Amino acid sequence: MATNRGIAYVGPGKVEVRSIDFPKLIDPAGRRCDHGVILKIVTTNICGSDQHMVRGRTTAAAGLILGHEITGEVIEAGRDVEFIKVGDLVSVPFNVACGRCRNCKERATGVCLNVNPARAGGAYGYVDMGGWIGGQAEYVMIPYADFNLLKFPDKAQAMEKIQDLTCLSDILPTGFHGCVSAGVSTGATVLISGAGPVGLAAAASAFLLGAAVVVVADFNKERLAQARSFGCETIDLAQGGTIAERIEQILRVPEVDCAVDCVGFEAKGHQGEDEPAIVLNQLMEATRAAGAIGIPGLYVTEDPGAGDRAAKHGNLSIRLGLGWAKSHTLCTGQTPVMKYNRGLMMAILHDRIRIAKAVNTTVISLDQAPKSYAEFDKGVARKFVIDPHGSIKHAA
Ligand code: ZN
Ligand code: ZN
Repeated sequence: MATNRGIAYVGPGKVEVRSIDFPKLIDPAGRRCDHGVILKIVTTNICGSDQHMVRGRTTAAAGLILGHEITGEVIEAGRDVEFIKVGDLVSVPFNVACGRCRNCKERATGVCLNVNPARAGGAYGYVDMGGWIGGQAEYVMIPYADFNLLKFPDKAQAMEKIQDLTCLSDILPTGFHGCVSAGVSTGATVLISGAGPVGLAAAASAFLLGAAVVVVADFNKERLAQARSFGCETIDLAQGGTIAERIEQILRVPEVDCAVDCVGFEAKGHQGEDEPAIVLNQLMEATRAAGAIGIPGLYVTEDPGAGDRAAKHGNLSIRLGLGWAKSHTLCTGQTPVMKYNRGLMMAILHDRIRIAKAVNTTVISLDQAPKSYAEFDKGVARKFVIDPHGSIKHAA
């Protein structure tokens, strides 16, 4: 009998490596997944959105196997998988999508209607996202494989760039989508709130889209230095001043063309207190009239750990009147990864973007993951990439 190990959420601030069942071609409702495959995982990343669960800021139950950023090799294919083959090396979009519903047909795979009985949208290893078992593990089952999987054209070429390609499952398309929905194009000035991995991926994406100036704002000095390492301007929020004043120092005008929120609902004020609406309000202040704001940062319907009653149910004090007066366009929601991952794969394979360097990928073993979760929570400027089978070491 084949074995498997994965990272389990145990309780606030605690994850551990556990022996778990080897995956079967069966969905969370117990139905057969003849359209699915079993992957031997090559890389699987720790994500800021995992941290929301691990900090106890969601209703995630103890025992949940984490992990939605998955790259792997197909070792078994179900009866109805026609085009993906055993041996293929593939990137898995974090969105679980059926490929059959109205939203999937319209490329809104982040809100597939058939993979989560509770609401639109599914993901691996995530609370309220359909119960799909996570991929911070040695093996995982991926449903609707022909639709979901992106096959790399050449395995040897892909293994050489695997630390870049591992970012295709979430952070790179997510950062890119934030920029696209904020209207970033040639010559744009862009403000990115949050210098975590998604913020840095958004910054690298902004350059790929032709931005003239990319300004990254955060309190975390190490992460801001990381942003400067590939050409971003930075605003250290700990130094005070309004966002408009700080932008004026850099651009000579107090507004940007485009803004991207890569922070989400755990946004903090100056004293480190919860201020879930502060980033959205700053971005409306900082974005030009008729500009757009991309919001890949995660907001939730229920936040039991929130300080005030309204925020516990996802109600925030957004200054929408300001955004309305400036005719802002706001774009929310999970990124439909599939819309972007193929083009971004080509940009990686042909050296148009160096995403691993931008987000400072750091390869670890499965057993090192609990320690890395703790370091990531402290704000290190790293993107942890778990290599559960030592595949990267082997390839190197
Ligand atoms: Zn993620
Ligand atoms: Zn669907």
